[in-house]
Amino acid sequence: MLKNSTILHIGIDDTDSPKGMCTTFLSYKIVKFLEKQKAEFVDYPSLIRFNPNIPWKTRGNGAVRLTIKTRNPNKIKKEIIQFITNYSDTKNGANPGLVFFQNQSIPQSFHKFSRLALWKLISRKTAKDFISNNKIDSFYLGNGQGLVGAIGAIGYKFSDHTFELLCYRKKSQFGKKRVKSVVLASTMVDTDEELDGYMVFKSNQGTADHLKNELQANDLRPYTSGFLVGKVCSKPVTEQGGHVFFSIQVGDKKIRCGVYKQTKITKTAQDLIPGDKIRLGGGIRKASKNYERVLNVEFLDVIKLEKNILLTNPTCKTCNKKMKSKGNRQGFECFRCGNKSFSKSSLEIPRKIQRKLYLPAISAHRHLTRPYQRLKKRNKFEIFDTSLEWLNIF
Ligand SMILES: [Zn+2]
Repeated sequence: MLKNSTILHIGIDDTDSPKGMCTTFLSYKIVKFLEKQKAEFVDYPSLIRFNPNIPWKTRGNGAVRLTIKTRNPNKIKKEIIQFITNYSDTKNGANPGLVFFQNQSIPQSFHKFSRLALWKLISRKTAKDFISNNKIDSFYLGNGQGLVGAIGAIGYKFSDHTFELLCYRKKSQFGKKRVKSVVLASTMVDTDEELDGYMVFKSNQGTADHLKNELQANDLRPYTSGFLVGKVCSKPVTEQGGHVFFSIQVGDKKIRCGVYKQTKITKTAQDLIPGDKIRLGGGIRKASKNYERVLNVEFLDVIKLEKNILLTNPTCKTCNKKMKSKGNRQGFECFRCGNKSFSKSSLEIPRKIQRKLYLPAISAHRHLTRPYQRLKKRNKFEIFDTSLEWLNIF
């Protein structure tokens, strides 16, 4: 325990660009520096993925939180600002944000901000207002978009988590519960390159955090994520490219939904029929000139299947032949014996899909997708175990 020390939460986001360095690697460099400064880590470094359906995200839209105990918060803040300045890929479009919060407990306003950032589009203006209204110590470069994730990372509350181990130059993902097994896995990372070291992040990957919010059918904002429950109200149609589109009725709204070929659940979508009750998770795509707003489906949960009834002309009981229609509302007649019938016969066609959850193929998973093997799994809070080698510098 450090005497006269203070707790410092550090939120970092958007230091990377589609081309350049990763925020997690910059965090690794910062952690190495903090170790040298004898800062005491209070928790694992956290890697928080926010709404993946916003337009300007870099890769996984992941932000990092570091929580330490230190005697020299001011010196550390200065140095971290230097790290962000030196290593952020601002030339290639990074808009880094850095937020410091110096207190053990984190205010509700941070938690609220973080919850919204999981599924909404939050403007940098909102983030800047939050910072000035709450007099928060912060730093940014570029347009400051990274402030959103930096505030969100500090405010994030884990209700479930996974661990991710990242090696310098090599990155492997393990959704395992025990850190020990992740650390063990680091020895199995197959690499010819010399590694600098590895670091374990506590993460919300694989928790479907962005799809927990129920979207409001009468107020579907572009780039929001969440789920909708409704009834299929149009026959699914396969369009160019192999994508399947259909509509669902939610309240008095009809919402167009798209299942993309890459998800490999288009066959399932094709087998939906009007009347099926389903729950769909995904992100709202902005309307374009030619297309209306669409829910891009990230999971399809079949709640209730409608009976698939096929109405056909009746069969003559004497001749065992299909009767012919005599015209609109004129009934049916057997062309052999003249038997008459007034109603069609109904035939129930077995459904090809089941009442269950359908997820995209693993190749189409996002960082936040909750995979089948984690469906019922929740990793509860565990005490930060400093005996585990969450950081290893080779
Ligand atoms: Zn007949």
